[in-house]
Amino acid sequence: MNKIIFVSNRLPVTINRKNAHMEVKASSGGLVTALSSFEKMAKKVWIGWPGVIDRRNKAEAEEIKELLHEYDYKPIFLNRKQIKEYYDGFCNETIWPLFHYFVQYGIYEKRFWDTYKTVNQKFCEAVLKEAEPDSIIWIHDYHLMLLPNMIRQRMPDVKIGFFLHIPFPSSEIFRLIPWCKEIIDGLLGADLVGFHTFDYVRHFAESVRRILGIEHTLGQFTLGSRAVRVDTFPMGIDFQKFSKAPLEAVVKNKITELKREIGGDYKIILSIDRLDYTKGIPNRLNAIEHFLDKNPKYKQKVIFIVVAVPSRTQVEHYKILKEKVEYLTGKINGKHGSIGWTPIWYLYRSFEFHDLIALYSIADILFITPIRDGMNLVAKEYVAVKNDGNGVLILGEMAGTAKELGEAIIINPNDIEKTANALKKALEMHINDKVARMRSMQKRLKRYDIKKWTNDFMDRLGQIKDVQKHIKSKVLSVQGKNNLIKDYSKASKRLFLLDYDGTLMPFNENPANVKPDKEVTEILRNLNKDNRNTTIIVSGRDKETLESWLGHLSHGMVAEHGVWIKNGSWKTIEKLDNIWKDEIRSILEIFVDRTPGSFLEEKEFSLVWHYRKVDPSLASVRVGELKYILIHATANLNLGVLEGNKVVEIKNTGINKGRAVRHWLDNEDWDFILSVGDDWTDEDVFEELPKSAYSIKIGFGASKALYKLDSYKEARELLKRISLYSY
Ligand code: UDP
Repeated sequence: MNKIIFVSNRLPVTINRKNAHMEVKASSGGLVTALSSFEKMAKKVWIGWPGVIDRRNKAEAEEIKELLHEYDYKPIFLNRKQIKEYYDGFCNETIWPLFHYFVQYGIYEKRFWDTYKTVNQKFCEAVLKEAEPDSIIWIHDYHLMLLPNMIRQRMPDVKIGFFLHIPFPSSEIFRLIPWCKEIIDGLLGADLVGFHTFDYVRHFAESVRRILGIEHTLGQFTLGSRAVRVDTFPMGIDFQKFSKAPLEAVVKNKITELKREIGGDYKIILSIDRLDYTKGIPNRLNAIEHFLDKNPKYKQKVIFIVVAVPSRTQVEHYKILKEKVEYLTGKINGKHGSIGWTPIWYLYRSFEFHDLIALYSIADILFITPIRDGMNLVAKEYVAVKNDGNGVLILGEMAGTAKELGEAIIINPNDIEKTANALKKALEMHINDKVARMRSMQKRLKRYDIKKWTNDFMDRLGQIKDVQKHIKSKVLSVQGKNNLIKDYSKASKRLFLLDYDGTLMPFNENPANVKPDKEVTEILRNLNKDNRNTTIIVSGRDKETLESWLGHLSHGMVAEHGVWIKNGSWKTIEKLDNIWKDEIRSILEIFVDRTPGSFLEEKEFSLVWHYRKVDPSLASVRVGELKYILIHATANLNLGVLEGNKVVEIKNTGINKGRAVRHWLDNEDWDFILSVGDDWTDEDVFEELPKSAYSIKIGFGASKALYKLDSYKEARELLKRISLYSY
């Protein structure tokens, strides 16, 4: 049975010293439920910081370790410097503000970053102590974004999932971090990277594309032979727990007590957040003021309970925010309050579970208006508690939850006018409308609860591992290579169909710089020494370049992706014209002008737009535009548009490498054929091959080839073995 290893910055415990001893108080919460839902798991471990500063007191640390042992929690002790630079510093003063679009609050301190790396490494060592080859490691949140790759380096095959509980920002914001590439590399060490919403997935994928130049297909990145999946998992809550809680006697008593304290028949409008600048509390207070200005009839009829949970109290921005919130609350209460009625009840503290449920229960409206929020669980919990459906949720559109709870009154928290109107709308909403909205939100939250979220994540993690296995199964193994060489050695008529760029040689920003090097020259020479071998270079390049570089190193060639073939002398594959070139050239020239880094290559019967040096996101936009324009422009011209590796080529239809190689395939009886290629222009060759042929794709994208190899280096290594064998 697999061992599951949870890793998060903080363990779900509070540790206090009681007299001479330590006392552990375990807390509940979504992740605790998530871990507990792995009922069948034989072993579960949670690694994290227990919340106490390491005072270098070994005895105390040992005592904590022992106390946590019964919960299967493994503490990581962090010292004061680490907490200051990793947690307060890099996590909460760099990542937190940036990922929530508070760019002006972001601090870029090298020492914070260095400590972030050190602490991630410390977590890595702790995980490695626990992990077994078939363990499942689930890492949580922005504190540990380097950890997936650190573990991957040491355990290449272990299952690693990562979930980000906060938003992932637009790539324009993300790239402001000087270490953004390292963070992306860190996250891609996981097999599955999960986010709350599709927008965050989109932003992450865009950042990967811009920073690493790697594209994804339906949320799947291919990094060498490893597939990494990114996907959406909107975190759920323990719905049953919240919906049953109001029925508990202890909560009922608290509700009675609260109602007694409030007195009068007021409509209660509740908001609960940590006192964080992302939560939009000042905006909300401004909207309350505006609401009371505009709707005096609601005076003495409503009470706003504003709960602000103390948070990161040492950070300057939080101190300033606290002052601001207190100032605004005082101002509004002074302006609109009267003897016997205070509009805003401001509570700067946190509440235990049962008190929280009582607050949710008495609230007619929950008023949540974050400027940016990864998810917002309070909103979901409120909906779950409202069993009778008699409640209204007002939700800021920048909360991840707003994507799921469309039945809430959704507002832009920066629009004070509309937010105030939303309050009026909520207060005046018909009960049938309230119930209908609540019921459909409840249905959704009940179905996709925390257990479903956990299972969904685990299922998807399993699926991506299966994909990886499938990819690996296509890699030409040592045994496969031996078999290939054995077949080669027995054969007396052997054909090699070899693509050039990306197969024999690596890519270069300037294609003119990719002359065959010494090793390739030697490989081809050695292959050709055996007169049982026929080597054909099957390329997209023009015939002049091929002739001068490889004419003396091969028996035949295909140029311009199948326009020309050389078997003794050069000839076109059929009678071709190029009168279309002027028209298409003028289109391509406009694209060259508008796309820095791109250039036009003109061959005799084809035109090629190269975009290897273009910014990847601009390139993808331009390729889309160009293909769209070309489809129309080439409609009556008997032309085809072909996409290669960072090139778009236009030439006569029906011309491709596959058709060209038929020239050799059809005219002789080969008893060994090896075809190697890297991009989808080579797929046409693979398609033409007889069943007995060996076909190898360089890279791990989709292919008709029977086998795959990682890079041109491996292709060379194989060809070298063959060439030496024949020698
Ligand atoms: N919470 C609590 N006591 C409080 C206020 C909030 O236990 O006084 C809990 C609440 O039940 C919720 C979590 O804290 O589960 C807050 O999560 P949310 O996603 O709303 O905000 P975050 O603090 O994670 O940004």
